[in-house]
Amino acid sequence: MGDKLTLEQVRAKSASKLSGLLCADRAAAEALIDFAYACGVPIVITQGLRTIDEQNALYAQGRTTRGQIVTNARGGYSYHNFGVAIDFALLLPDGGVSWDTKRDGDCDGLADWGEVVAQAKRLGWDWGGDWRSFTDLPHFEMTFGLSTADYRAGKRPTQAQLDAALARVKALKETEGEDDEMTTEEKAKIAEQFKALQETVETQTKRIETLEARAKMGAIPTWALPACENAKKAGFIDTTADGSYDFYRLVTLLDRAGMFVKKGA
Ligand SMILES: [Zn+2]
Repeated sequence: MGDKLTLEQVRAKSASKLSGLLCADRAAAEALIDFAYACGVPIVITQGLRTIDEQNALYAQGRTTRGQIVTNARGGYSYHNFGVAIDFALLLPDGGVSWDTKRDGDCDGLADWGEVVAQAKRLGWDWGGDWRSFTDLPHFEMTFGLSTADYRAGKRPTQAQLDAALARVKALKETEGEDDEMTTEEKAKIAEQFKALQETVETQTKRIETLEARAKMGAIPTWALPACENAKKAGFIDTTADGSYDFYRLVTLLDRAGMFVKKGA
């Protein structure tokens, strides 16, 4: 058993099968891979667009060529031929695939297959497992109400249909994304931390203002006036305005020590 596959590794395994799909089907297929992965169920898209020649070759299998019969659809009679159907398989940790519909690889008590089907239906896929005749368990299709005869005749979904399907996928992806990023609890915790930080900043700002006011006293304090006068007279300093508390204290001490007394006075 290898390590758990990353989402990027899982996506990469299906990339080539998604390229021929109709835009809305492709977006829904990409979202299905991501949603299933988020449920703990990595999947691989094993079939996307199948050309009419490929479909005819597949139809011949078990009829005119070797192998078992795998399809009842001739070329042009399968939704795969028009890029509006996909088939999937479960992706195993060692890179292998499984069609075991009972498998519970993520051990959550739910069959992985059913988890994928549930996610697919949310995204707008119809499931081949719901068909009355010839159930096709790995098959999903999003056909926009058109038959394969319609597609063969050149009809295609309207822009409004495609836009609606794309909007549904986008809305679901946004909802899932929010859940992944942050829970309500985490958001409340961050808001609390931010409030505490704001309060700290306010307190610190006030402290700095007090310290600055103290360092730069607007007027000479009364108790330092005589000392400042003496210091000025003695020519020690030009100005005694705008000094700090410590400055006035020092001037006063020096004055008391007799430093500013005029010689010969
Ligand atoms: Zn299929």
